[in-house]
Amino acid sequence: MNHFREQFPIFNTISDPFVYFDNASTTQTPITVIDAMSRYYTHDRSNVHRALYPLSLNISDRFEHARSKVQQFIGARCPQEIVFTKGTTESINLVAASLSENYFQENDEIIVSLLEHHSNIVPWQVIAKRNKLNLRYLTVSETGDLSMEELEKLISPRTKLVAVTHVSNSLGSVNPIHEIIQMVKKRNCLVLIDAAQSIAHIPIQVKELNCDFLVFSGHKMYGPTGIGVLYGKEEILREMHPYQTGGNQIRSVDVQQTIFADLPSRFEAGTPNIAGVLGLEAAVNFITSYDPAEIIQYEYELTNMLESRLSEIPFVNIIGKPKHRSSILSFTVENCHPTDVALLLGEKGICLRSGYHCNEPLMNVLSSEGIIRVSLAPYNNADEIRYFCEKLIWARNLLHRNKNDIPSKSKI
Ligand code: PLP
Repeated sequence: MNHFREQFPIFNTISDPFVYFDNASTTQTPITVIDAMSRYYTHDRSNVHRALYPLSLNISDRFEHARSKVQQFIGARCPQEIVFTKGTTESINLVAASLSENYFQENDEIIVSLLEHHSNIVPWQVIAKRNKLNLRYLTVSETGDLSMEELEKLISPRTKLVAVTHVSNSLGSVNPIHEIIQMVKKRNCLVLIDAAQSIAHIPIQVKELNCDFLVFSGHKMYGPTGIGVLYGKEEILREMHPYQTGGNQIRSVDVQQTIFADLPSRFEAGTPNIAGVLGLEAAVNFITSYDPAEIIQYEYELTNMLESRLSEIPFVNIIGKPKHRSSILSFTVENCHPTDVALLLGEKGICLRSGYHCNEPLMNVLSSEGIIRVSLAPYNNADEIRYFCEKLIWARNLLHRNKNDIPSKSKI
């Protein structure tokens, strides 16, 4: 994977040691993505879908070309099924707000799992409160897995939507989304898949999956920040109300009323993140230039190495042992607060996350003070894992010695 790593300028611009293990939070950016965005600002800057001069017509075409590229990447039926958003969070808010207009009736139920990121809990909580719906939770086993039997029992005639993550951002569990979607569709409910943590690591084909919605962010797949995607089945998106309103999404407006544009513009009010969309297309081109089987195998081997190295350290407790793990692994260090460990590792150039990871309901179940998370990408390597384990032992020894002096219980 040396070739993969060489595409990322940051590894030459930050002086060593620089060990980037925070890929679940945001990935680094390859040169082709940086170039695509920079080319827009230096050569092609103009707005899309408005003017008739060549610069603008050209960038409008390129913008729509990027949409088709994303469509092919996830195997959607047509470009109209691809809505550009700010990211996963906005995509879920769009679906929640829009469905709350005319899809749910009082006492209907929404099911989410306890593995969800706050982005896939809070929007449903808000509309549940407003529309008098019930939000129900699928629990998580000690290993970090969801139970299909429990889901089957939880779905009732009142269930209208099930929203689950493909990969847990804190435990790394890869959920059986094929089975989940099949079960939910049999019961005639809508199903939303949060692919924020899988889109860069696992090939996804929405037509085969048969999910109704799938959401992800550009910045977790080597693309820019502030851009993301909502995939929705065309026939469902057509029934949904716009989430935001304004310019660029209307067919006609008079002083009393508005006729909204067709898909996908009706969900893209205002000037879009044009550089972000072009950068996202470059990120898709970057990912698809590698063999997915090779990426999966490499990440699998690296994560296995991390897991076995950590399990050899007596004071480390790995959290969860899911049936299928992605390249995310979390742990605690006996007698040390996660924040203190992360701060010390940061001083040694190791970038990782500690705390609640936007998973407070899950952390409450784990009765945890927070956890430390390592999340790997193909530019990481075995040397970095060895260095990390060495510095982890150093940090623990230092903290353990000074244990009584260190006050910290902050939630991050
Ligand atoms: N869902 C999952 C599983 C995530 O891991 C994250 C971010 O970490 C999000 C949703 C939110 O993504 P964003 O902040 O890009 O909207």
